[in-house]
Amino acid sequence: MATIAFIGLGNMGGPMAANLVKGGHNVVGFDLEPAHLAAARSAGVTAAASAVEAVREADVIVTMLPAGKHVLSVWSEVLPAARRDALAIDSSTIDVASAKQAHELAARHGLASLDAPVSGGVGGAKGATLTFMCGGAERAFERAEPLLSLMGRKVVHCGAAGAGQAAKICNNMILGISMIAVSEAFVLGEKLGLSHQALFDVASTSSGQCWSLTTYCPVPGPVPTSPANNGYAPGFAAALMLKDLKLSQEAAAATGATTPLGAQAAALYESFAAAGFEGKDFSGIVEFLRGR
Ligand code: NAD
Repeated sequence: MATIAFIGLGNMGGPMAANLVKGGHNVVGFDLEPAHLAAARSAGVTAAASAVEAVREADVIVTMLPAGKHVLSVWSEVLPAARRDALAIDSSTIDVASAKQAHELAARHGLASLDAPVSGGVGGAKGATLTFMCGGAERAFERAEPLLSLMGRKVVHCGAAGAGQAAKICNNMILGISMIAVSEAFVLGEKLGLSHQALFDVASTSSGQCWSLTTYCPVPGPVPTSPANNGYAPGFAAALMLKDLKLSQEAAAATGATTPLGAQAAALYESFAAAGFEGKDFSGIVEFLRGR
């Protein structure tokens, strides 16, 4: 049994920490939001009075926070108080540059570290079916893998520091673009008098097949479990898709990569969010496109 400090017990972190408890570990948690800390306590997490208190005895430190600035601030605060043999893992989705800075901070304090963002959403966090994409040294990955496997179904070592965030950003750029592509096809199909089911039946078994169509179909009907059948309740909120697309565009600008469709997807999700739909599932973009 390991002692694990878990900082950031929100929509994702709360259920992830609960799965570590279920796996038989001693989890000491902290969150600035008292209600989130209380919910984690009822799932068996020991509540700490501060992030620093949470990490003092920890073998492993996990952070699940909103953005890069939160991760760098928390890591700067807690790493000086952590054990030298502790492993620090950040599972938040953050920019690659901040992820690399976090690794440098850990190295300065003599700690091993891993960036390990996730895909799979709140459902995956609750059901322990997340995919972890990891960046960092082989040894750090080997130490982390058994713990990450308690919270996820697939754990991939993508490369050196920052490679996990790079994989996450690239994957979600594909997702944002493909959701818009599928939505545009349904909107065009409607204008051409094609039923949703007919287009689905053809495209889902043809070269247009993709996850945005077959698992997360943006129109109601063909895939009964998709958010389209539930008024576009998230799921994966448009605000989070916009965050990830912006990260992809920052990374493209920093590296000189050409991503014109990524840029267009970011601009469309920006308009969708600005029109008041940031809390809707990202597949609701089909309604926005239909209305334009
Ligand atoms: P959330 O807002 O529900 O949780 C973040 C938590 O961090 C909050 O409880 C907040 O109080 C806490 N927090 C912020 N600053 C803190 C600090 N200094 N010390 C302690 N706690 C602090 O967000 P979430 O949906 O759980 O997402 C967390 C991360 O996971 C984000 O980076 C997000 O992009 C990523 N992610 C989310 C999803 C999803 O579907 N929600 C899917 C994949 C990845």
